[in-house]
Amino acid sequence: MTEQTKFSVLCSLLTWTQRTKSPQKKRAKFRKFLDSFCPDRNYFPAIRLILPNLDRERGSYGLKESVLATSLIDALGMSKDSPDALRLINWRKGGSKTGANAGNFALVATEVLQLRQGTASGGLTIKELNDLLDQLSSSENRGEKTLVLSTLIQMTNAQEMKWIIMIILKDLKLGISEKSIFHEFHPDAEDLFNVTCDLKLVCEKLRDRNQRHKRQDIEVGKAVRPQLAKRVANAAEAWKKLHGKEVVAECKFDGDRIQIHKNGTEIHFFSRNFLDHSEYAHAMSEIIIQNILVDRCILDGEMLVWDTSLNRFAEFGSNQEIAKAARDGLDSNRQLCYIAFDILYFGDTSVIHQTLKERHEILRKVVRPLNGRLEILLPNNGGINSHRPSGEPCWSLIAQNADEVERFFKETIENRDEGIVVKDLSSKWEPSDRSGKWLKLKPEYVQAGSDLDVLIIGGYYGSGRHGGEVAQFLVGLAERPSPNTHPKRFVSFCRVGTGLSDDELEAVVTKLKPYFRKYEYPKQRPPSFYQVTNHSKERPDVWVDSPEKSIILSITSDIRTIESEVFSAPYCLRFPRIDRVRYDKAWHECLDVQSFIELVQSSNGT
Ligand code: ATP
Repeated sequence: MTEQTKFSVLCSLLTWTQRTKSPQKKRAKFRKFLDSFCPDRNYFPAIRLILPNLDRERGSYGLKESVLATSLIDALGMSKDSPDALRLINWRKGGSKTGANAGNFALVATEVLQLRQGTASGGLTIKELNDLLDQLSSSENRGEKTLVLSTLIQMTNAQEMKWIIMIILKDLKLGISEKSIFHEFHPDAEDLFNVTCDLKLVCEKLRDRNQRHKRQDIEVGKAVRPQLAKRVANAAEAWKKLHGKEVVAECKFDGDRIQIHKNGTEIHFFSRNFLDHSEYAHAMSEIIIQNILVDRCILDGEMLVWDTSLNRFAEFGSNQEIAKAARDGLDSNRQLCYIAFDILYFGDTSVIHQTLKERHEILRKVVRPLNGRLEILLPNNGGINSHRPSGEPCWSLIAQNADEVERFFKETIENRDEGIVVKDLSSKWEPSDRSGKWLKLKPEYVQAGSDLDVLIIGGYYGSGRHGGEVAQFLVGLAERPSPNTHPKRFVSFCRVGTGLSDDELEAVVTKLKPYFRKYEYPKQRPPSFYQVTNHSKERPDVWVDSPEKSIILSITSDIRTIESEVFSAPYCLRFPRIDRVRYDKAWHECLDVQSFIELVQSSNGT
């Protein structure tokens, strides 16, 4: 029985694989392991440990490095402030004095474990390990998880524990691709996995390497590995690559890639990593049942958050929060919104072999759009997108030449979207394909070399927990003042909300409250000392009516190197977050626009 195979045998294979350079040798050794240690062709128990990121039979462990660190500290009975406990907690800085293993949690943990575990293997079998990992994933609290970890520690040596930790973190760093592992296992394994995302099924169906498996099509209820996009540098390159094809350019939405599987009233929301996101069910299932006009189908698209008060999509990252708020019945002006850009299955048949153009037609018939909740992404050729939530530019267009692609790209990034995806309208939808039927075009970003000290000039009300209070800020840069004077005007720069604790946020809001002024748009203009564009994104709920009373925030961010016309300052930021509140700095010490531009150009090497 494979399962009676000792885990130490698998560890030898993993260690050897990691050290060996030659891909052929790695594959040959893997084959030998399969033949010698899985004699009854029961491959799944071992393969799920070799490809832990593809195994969906077990739930998640709920153990990322930091929780794993504290659980191991408890399992080893160490004091939390002992040097070894601190090495685990500060694993990013490195375990040993030299910091040689910095950033590799498993290696830092091995250093600590080596001092406490013997070198002799405890004799753990693959079956026992799988049983204990099942217990680890089903245990509900950290205490239970700690118990499982201490059992594992008793049954292993430090080398074996290193591999177990890597299995728990789902990254073995073997230096051999998943594709090679699949290919060595069975020539049809990758194909079958791509359309089922079911490792157990692949291991069970393909026991005989010499027997080919008939190509299987996709099924409702089984996640499919998504078609992906290849990056190109510019519109001209995209146009050249799709030479002679009919081309559609679509906005690249920055949400969660979600496949919706509908089978009557049974709805699944599969992520790109084929996890079933049941947390979307509360807010979305009924909408899907009512507005998808076919009993069985698979839609491909993006889950985003639509802000009904601002009439636009909220920035990336709030999906889970909004899904929870919907489940808990909390009132919010934000709601989940699904944008379907493709359809893969319709009625009783897979439609991935039809052209994108044909699939668009099916999509049009199957989905009844619902403003800001359920949208379809179809080319805007004749007012099809008339249902689109107001204020947004066109989301999709059939391009006639490279210039049109370029113009569309510029327009979408002005709207602060992620970029565009250019697609061949005659192409099939192919699971896991990144060969270039879809091309993505994104603006370049550089990392801001240092923190940016910006001034709070406005505030936006929050929702949910932060409802009714300012929870995000519009921040500005100073117009460079003449020497020895203070700045007189501030240029709006970006909106930032994350990074502060609740207490820190409350302290800032309390200090600024006396200076917050509500403005009625479009009747009132923002205060004259602020330079803003007319874009709706620059309309905070309140303005700070005297900059000299305001507060400096240090923010960190990636910077988009394509100039923006939306916010007044040149260049856009991506994922800005507040690093800290600079009560120690006076309002006039705010970064000025000129210095900011110099900073971007020096980071950009231009
Ligand atoms: P990125 O970080 O650029 O999103 P990625 O590796 O996650 O890269 P890619 O395959 O390169 O994914 O880009 C395709 C992704 O873009 C999809 O997974 C999907 O989430 C997202 N996307 C947004 N809008 C579209 C669209 N209109 N068509 C296809 N994909 C889209």
